[in-house]
This record gives sequence, structure tokens and C-alpha cells, in this order.
Amino acid sequence: MRSAPLRIAFAALIVASPLAGQTNLERVVNGAYTPSHDYDLIHQRIEVRNFDWDSTSFDARVSTSLVSLRPGLDSVVLDMGRSLRVRSVTPARSYARPGDTLVVRLARPAGFGDTVRFTVDYHGAIHQGQGLYFFKDDGRPHRPQQVYSGGGTDGNPRWLPTWGGPADKATWELAATVPAGLTVVSNGRRVSERPAPGGMHTVTWRQEKPASTYLISLAVAPFAKISDRWRGIPVEYYVYREDSALARPLFGITPDMMETYSRLTGVPYPWSKYAQVTVADFIGGMENVSATTLVDWLPDARAYRDRPWYRQSLIPHELAHQWFGDLVTAEDWGNYWLNEGMAEFMPGQYWGAKHGAHAEQDYYLAEYQQYLGVDARRRMPLATYSSNNVYPKGALVLEMLKAQLEPGPFWAAIHRYLTRHAYGNATTDDLRQAVLDATGQNLGWFWSQWIYSTGYPQFVVTSAYDSAARALTLTVRQTQVDTATADSTGFRFAVPLAFRAPIAIRVGTVAGDVVRRVTIDRREQAVRIDSLPGPPTMVAFDDDNAVVKTLEFEQPTPWLATMLARHRHLWQRAWAVQQLARRATDPAAAAALAAAVRGADYFLTRAQAAEGLSAFPAAVAVPALEVAAHDTAAQVRESAVAALGRVGGEGALAVARRAWLADSSDQVRAAALLALARLGAPDARAAVLEGLGLPSYRDAIQNAAITLAVQHGDPELVAALGRVVGSQSLPAIALAALASRGDTAARGLLRAGLDDERPWVREWVLGAVEQQLDPGPALGLLREAQPSLTRAEARSAVAQAIGRLERPPS
Ligand SMILES: [Zn+2]
Repeated sequence: MRSAPLRIAFAALIVASPLAGQTNLERVVNGAYTPSHDYDLIHQRIEVRNFDWDSTSFDARVSTSLVSLRPGLDSVVLDMGRSLRVRSVTPARSYARPGDTLVVRLARPAGFGDTVRFTVDYHGAIHQGQGLYFFKDDGRPHRPQQVYSGGGTDGNPRWLPTWGGPADKATWELAATVPAGLTVVSNGRRVSERPAPGGMHTVTWRQEKPASTYLISLAVAPFAKISDRWRGIPVEYYVYREDSALARPLFGITPDMMETYSRLTGVPYPWSKYAQVTVADFIGGMENVSATTLVDWLPDARAYRDRPWYRQSLIPHELAHQWFGDLVTAEDWGNYWLNEGMAEFMPGQYWGAKHGAHAEQDYYLAEYQQYLGVDARRRMPLATYSSNNVYPKGALVLEMLKAQLEPGPFWAAIHRYLTRHAYGNATTDDLRQAVLDATGQNLGWFWSQWIYSTGYPQFVVTSAYDSAARALTLTVRQTQVDTATADSTGFRFAVPLAFRAPIAIRVGTVAGDVVRRVTIDRREQAVRIDSLPGPPTMVAFDDDNAVVKTLEFEQPTPWLATMLARHRHLWQRAWAVQQLARRATDPAAAAALAAAVRGADYFLTRAQAAEGLSAFPAAVAVPALEVAAHDTAAQVRESAVAALGRVGGEGALAVARRAWLADSSDQVRAAALLALARLGAPDARAAVLEGLGLPSYRDAIQNAAITLAVQHGDPELVAALGRVVGSQSLPAIALAALASRGDTAARGLLRAGLDDERPWVREWVLGAVEQQLDPGPALGLLREAQPSLTRAEARSAVAQAIGRLERPPS
């Protein structure tokens, strides 16, 4: 699973997290430990029909085969959401529905090893998004009729009776009867498609290899299917018909990714097909076995200039899950990092294999920055229930493990892990054992400090050079403190006061580099590097960036300049940029950054150096940023334009204005718009007004314009927000944010929006009012609007919202 990154700073957007906001059902399914159950789920046949998009309901029959694991098994407990209304269970003595379970009292007790079969017939009334998502065709652009399952670690028992935990794998068959114009996509192989009465058809898919039931998927929509192949295995892209032309440029990379993952792991793609299915309003992606569900944000041709997250991260992440998560599944959610850490790790391996070391380092540098942010909010280990950092920390720890073992042994260990637990489950200790068996390496310290403890080494290094002895002495201190507190279940996580860090130190001199390998493993220790050919010109601590860390190391500007100019590792360069950027009065620092902006051999370094210049005086920064604003990489131009907005001055304004008018990238234009406003350009208001109406991928330009409209909030901009309230949900949120600050014009536009002729606009406006305004003002606005609403649907929706606000859920 992967949720999309946030794009908007001003709005308090709520983002679903796979294990956040737990309900009772999730607690039942998602225990921290593998729960006991006294049967082995073997096979389920799932028949669904009579989907009703108005009442968000359906009918279903699920036939379950299981094997008793206890003598005298007289009842079977399945997970089943309480909103599903059971009509019958046959054969059975009786059934009961305590909480979110179904208890089937068997017609006669089963012996140990006996097979048990029964069929549950039920009606499913679904609260939108709980198990299934329904969208009817109400004329909204890019939103065809559809229904799909949310899946994930808790979703499927909300629409079908099953064993919801990951540790009991089964096969299944899914037969969906839907209108003939709609395509059905599910797991495994499509075995039949037959006409059914009333203009319907029944499509049956069969998952023939065992998998965890949280990976069951159903997606129904008027899809176009684009067919591809990898080593004879069908690779399919299901998108809305209007997106047909966008599918292959986006997903066409999939077979190459399958080939790369198969080669790296030594385990060929393990399922009978691979489908990627795009749906509306999805959290991001979900790795349903052999049938990944993805959000419907297909990039257009322009968007590729900005390296879209969809292709860079989402597609390779979900594909990696087909091995890590689907073939070998975490036994319980306390080991969830095995799924998510590996899935987050693998895209960096793909890009490294494809484009080389810099592309790989680039990927993990972004993970590192994310990880530091997550860790700053709360420190948790990887291998614990509901850990907050299984994605970026998992990816970084695996990259460290690869560096520690060297790639050959690392992949041998991964191969061992995948083949030993194929179609089964694994715990963190199974991964440790696979490493031990494949490489002979115990690495107890590694598992202890990186998987079961929390935090990272925070190094403070000082250096002294003895020119007589030609010796450099580094004093290395680890300054992290153990303040991690007990969590809600009473676990207390520890931060090691002394991490073990096998690293290399590179000392540059005019006569060449000297590299020493040392192991740092104490709170404070001295490292002496002698017999240097001359005084240091550069010191790179942890030369290969083999250890996740922060580093404080005060160095002379020329050392940093040398590092930025010639160190091959992006982490070291980024660190040098950071140090140099703090020296805004030092011309040598400016010169070093300017040189990197002009000449660095990888775009990320040029972009970071451009960003680093933003605190420097215009006279030194603008000429270099002007060069960067013409860079071939959009990310460099974006950084340059953003930096110019902070540098200020006429020269900056001219460059930002040209970028706004003429750049080929949406992200650069969005940055230019923000820069124009920041620079106080006289034409900024006209640009914001224009930006509000400009289409761009993921609304990058419009979002920048909306942010500025909210900041400035003058009547003309507020009126313009009202005119684009139908383009996406953000203008309504912006109006609500303005209304909450007392803007009466914005409030009036919200009132009008509640009665908009387009149902989806009414939904956005009502949602914005409920979420952005305090309950009192929200109620006031809705009550005031109520008498003038001309549409029955609008009156009903507003009345329901008033009910919710008057009686908030306890
Ligand atoms: Zn994932």
C-alpha cells in the first residue's frame, strides 16, 4: 500500500494511513500478534451481484472451504463487518453475529483434519469507502461509474466473510454479475465471461495460488484494457476509456521492472498475470495480488518533465509487493515493515539498475529526508505494531543491509527468504535467518539497533591536523539521547546510546585521497589517520553513506567546496550544500554553490545548490540562478525559480516572470507564480487570476494560485475562486478557509455552491464547510442556506450535514 504525498500546505487535509484511526473491526483483524484460530482456510468462492449505486449495496453468496485444526470443531468464526446482513448459512445448525464476526455453528462437529464447507448468503449495505467504494456516473468529468474494493489491511471483511488476518493463505474465485458495459477485474486468471439476464454479464476470476485474503480485489468500471506481456505472462493496464492514450506511456515500463525485480531476487514474477487498475479517489495504491489497484492520476505528456511520483515511486512500489507482501507476507502487522520496507526499498534498486548509482542515491536521499521528518514526530522501531516509519526507514535499513553485506550476498539472502517462505508468511526473524543461512553473517548488532531499537546516530565530529606528523585526528561523538517513551501498549522503545557504524573516512589531499575503514561503536572515540601525503583538502565522514545518520562537522569552506565539486555520493554533496548554504556572507561558499549550479553532473545536486543560494545576496546568487533557470532538468529550474523568489531584486523578477510565461514544466510555472507573488511583482495578481484557470497535471499551477488567493484574499481573487469551484475540491476548501477568517464574500459563494447544479460541486462545498469551519459557524451557514436551496438532493444533503453537526459522533 502506498498513500500519495501531500501537495498543499495551507489546507488541513486528512490523509488516510493504513493503520491509523482504527475501528473495532481493525482491532479484530489487525492484532499485533498472530491470532489463534482453529481452522485452515482453503478456498472461497465469492459471488457478487445486484450492485446498487444509489443505496451503495449489493448481494452476495460466499462458499467457504476450510480444514478443521481441532478435534470436535463445532463452530467456525470468520471476520465479517456488522453492516452485512446475513440471510442464510447452509449447511449449519445456526449462526450468530457478535461484533464484526460471523460464528457458524456447524451441522455436526468436524474432526481434526476434516474439511468443512458452508455457504453464506447476505446483503451488503456499505457505508461509502468501508470495504467498497461506489461511484455513479453523475456527469462529472473523468469519473465514470465504478465500484471497487478498498482492500488493505482491514478492508475486505467489510464486504465479505473471510479470515481477515494475513497468516492464513487461501485460494479464491470471484464471480461478479454487473451491467454488460462494465469490465470486471480481479485476482488471478479470468476463467469465464457469460451473459446474464437483464443486460448483465457474469465475469469469473480465479486466484489459483494461495494468498492472504486482504489481497482480494474487485474493480468494476467501463475500463479500456491495454495489453502488454512479460516473458509470456499477460501484463494488463485497465484505465478509463478517455485515458487509453495515457496508459502505455505510464505503465509501459512495467515489463522492464518485472524483469529487473526477477533478476535481482532470482525469483521470477510469481503470478499468472499482472493487472494495474486505475480507480477514483483512491488513497494511492494497493498491491492486490496480481491485480494492483491504483489512483486514476495518469500523467499527461507534460507531466513527465517533472518526474511524476506515479512512475517514480508508486508503480515500482506496488509491483515490488507482488514478491514482498503477496508472495511472502508478514505473518502479523507487527512485522508489517517486511511488506512495506521491501516495497519501498525496491524502486531505488530499479532506478539504480536502470540509470546508475546517482539515480539510486537520489531515491534513498528522498527517503532519508522523509524518515528524519517522521522520526522527529515520534521515534518507533521498524518491527513493532503500528510503527510509523515502516516505509522510509524500512527502505533505508535495507539499503544499509545491502551495503553491509555487499550486493551479491544481500540478494542471495533475499532469494533465500523469498523461496523459503513462498506462498507463506514470515517474521522479521525469518529474514535474519535467511541472511545468516545465505551469507554466514549473524549481524546481531544490526538487527538489534536498526530493527528492534529506534533512533539513529547523531554524530558530532571535530578534526585536528598535526602538520609535523601529517596526521588527522577526528574526535567522533554520538550525541543521540534516549528519550523514547513507552507507547500506549506499555512498550518502551530504546535509542542506542552507541550505534555500531562500520564506515569509511576519505581524506582528500593535493597528492590524492586516503581512505580508512573504521568501526565507530562508542559514545566518543578518536580516529587517527596518519601518514597523509599532505594537509587535508576534504574530509568525507562515512564516505559511502553506509549508515543512516545526521552529521555535525564544522569544516573550512574549501573542504566543503572540494566535496561538493568532486565527491561522487549525492548524500555527501547534499550535506556540503547544507553547510555552505549557512555561510551567506562567505564569497567562497557562494562561488562553490554557483559552480555546482553550473556544472554538477547530476540534476539533483544542481537543484540543491540552487536552493542553497537563496540566502545569498542577489549580486552573487542571481547570475547563477539565471543559469539554473535554463537548466535542461525541470527540477533544477523549479529550485532556481523558488530561490529567486527569496533572493529578490529586479534581476530575480525578470527570470521568474519569464519562467511563468514560457516554461514547459507545470511545476516550474507553479513555482514561478509563487515567486512572482513573493517578489511583489505588479503583474502577480493578473498571473494568479490566470493561474486559477490553467489546467495542469494534478492541478499544480491552479493549486499554487489557490494558495496565493487564500493568502491575499482580496475580493477579486475570492470571486475568481468562486468561478473555479467546479474544477476540483480545493477551491471550495479555500473558500471555507477564507470564510472561517470572516470573509463574507467567500461565505456567500459557499452558500451558492451548496445549491450548484453539479452534484459533485455540492459535495465538495458541503465537505469543505463541514471540515474547514468550526461546528458553530458551519451550522450557522448551513441553516441560513437551507430555505433557499432549490434542489431536493441539496436540501437532503444539507439536512443530513446539520444532523451530523448537531449530534457529533461520540
Ligand atoms: Zn506498500
